[in-house]
Amino acid sequence: MCGVFGIHGHDEAANIAYLGMHALQHRGQESAGLVAADEGRLRRHVAMGLVSDAFNRDVLATLPGSAAIGHVRYSTAGSSELRNAQPFLFEYAGGSVAIAHNGNLVNAAELRAELEAQGSIFQTSSDTEVIVHLMAKAPQPDIVGKLIAALKRVRGAYSLVLLTSDGPSSKLIGVRDPSGFRPLVIGRLKDSYVLSSETCSFDLIEADLLRELEPGEIVVIEKGGMTSHKLVDTADRTFCVFEHVYFARPDSLVNGKSVYRAREKMGMRLAQEAPVEADVVIPVPDSGVPAAIGYAKESGIPFELGLIRSHYVGRTFIEPQDSIRHFGVRLKLSPVRSVVDGKRVVVVDDSLVRGTTSRKIVKMLRGAGAKEVHLRISAPPTTHPCYYGINTPTRSELVAASHTIDEINTYVTSDSLSYLSHEGMMAAVGSPTDKPGQGYCSACFTGNYPVALGQADLVQLRRAR
Ligand code: AMP
Repeated sequence: MCGVFGIHGHDEAANIAYLGMHALQHRGQESAGLVAADEGRLRRHVAMGLVSDAFNRDVLATLPGSAAIGHVRYSTAGSSELRNAQPFLFEYAGGSVAIAHNGNLVNAAELRAELEAQGSIFQTSSDTEVIVHLMAKAPQPDIVGKLIAALKRVRGAYSLVLLTSDGPSSKLIGVRDPSGFRPLVIGRLKDSYVLSSETCSFDLIEADLLRELEPGEIVVIEKGGMTSHKLVDTADRTFCVFEHVYFARPDSLVNGKSVYRAREKMGMRLAQEAPVEADVVIPVPDSGVPAAIGYAKESGIPFELGLIRSHYVGRTFIEPQDSIRHFGVRLKLSPVRSVVDGKRVVVVDDSLVRGTTSRKIVKMLRGAGAKEVHLRISAPPTTHPCYYGINTPTRSELVAASHTIDEINTYVTSDSLSYLSHEGMMAAVGSPTDKPGQGYCSACFTGNYPVALGQADLVQLRRAR
């Protein structure tokens, strides 16, 4: 998953983009990058690691100009290395273009093979580069025309921000794919426009939220103001429900709804669907906190912090190497004996993927004296991998793909295990359209993939397994 940010018409564009990316850090910690436009010249800085590691005052001083785009990354397509760090910056006949992408294309391998057969030489292993090559080949004279032509050929999930320069002027472009898988919002900061994956970055920079981009919408921001274009006539919205479950920050609004409140509702609903006699409800911090609050409120069982999270280690799941992840759980969480000792404990987490985290947590809690440990997951079983930009493992690693809930309960050694039903999750998130329960992609819970993969992409995926 990744986060994207853009600003146009501000004297301190790079500094503001830096702040905006800070607020999106939860969306990716592998690399961070910025491209700024100064009188028609685009300058780029990317580095591995966190935003605060990648940038400092001196680096930001090398990125002058009144427009900028930024990206934080964790890899879903393409490996974790500097050459895949975004934004990418390319020169073309008419000028320069920089691009930052959140999401995952599902026919990139197919298109890449076609482009390579025609002589294209790729610099990265990222799916995003396909878009740029398609733009370069498009016959349209203008950059927006080229972009539209390119996007008509790609399928999958993409929320994009682009920065272009032709002559002394620059354009900031924002795009959401026709399914609207990933979020993208537009706001105003005094006279400038800002684009971001999530509203939490607008809160930080004190920008006003204007609206979400519509699925299939392209906004072009330049000196004269903003124009909106359509990529397709009718968009079929399938927004990622996992953004609500886990990915987005709880202080963000997604589909105009509070992520925090949606998670709290998931917890409340879970308490109705899977009650248990217990003495204390504890969250797996941070992502399980709002759902645990909901569970405690609804059940009347006291809420306490029974696990303390060290904030000096990143999200362990995101570390690509298994060895680091296994070690990471103990590094990240430790139990509070005075909360759990001698108690029947309900532990609430937002999702159970491989089951390794839960297994370690249950063991830790028992070690700290918990008499019973009841695991409650505020989403349905994760049975299928995501092809649209969430870094879920392959099917063989998803414990719920091949095991019943009883078997998982035995594996994680909890006294009981329950998940929120699909219906319960949908009721908690509400509908982004006027049709209840519709408008979402929940393929990771159902296997119903709304956008089909390309043949070559399927073959590549099978080979990777
Ligand atoms: P696991 O050990 O694989 O069952 O990990 C489950 C934990 O990972 C839960 O606490 C989730 O909050 C977290 N998690 C679930 N999905 C993701 C993801 N795509 N990226 C990072 N963390 C995740």
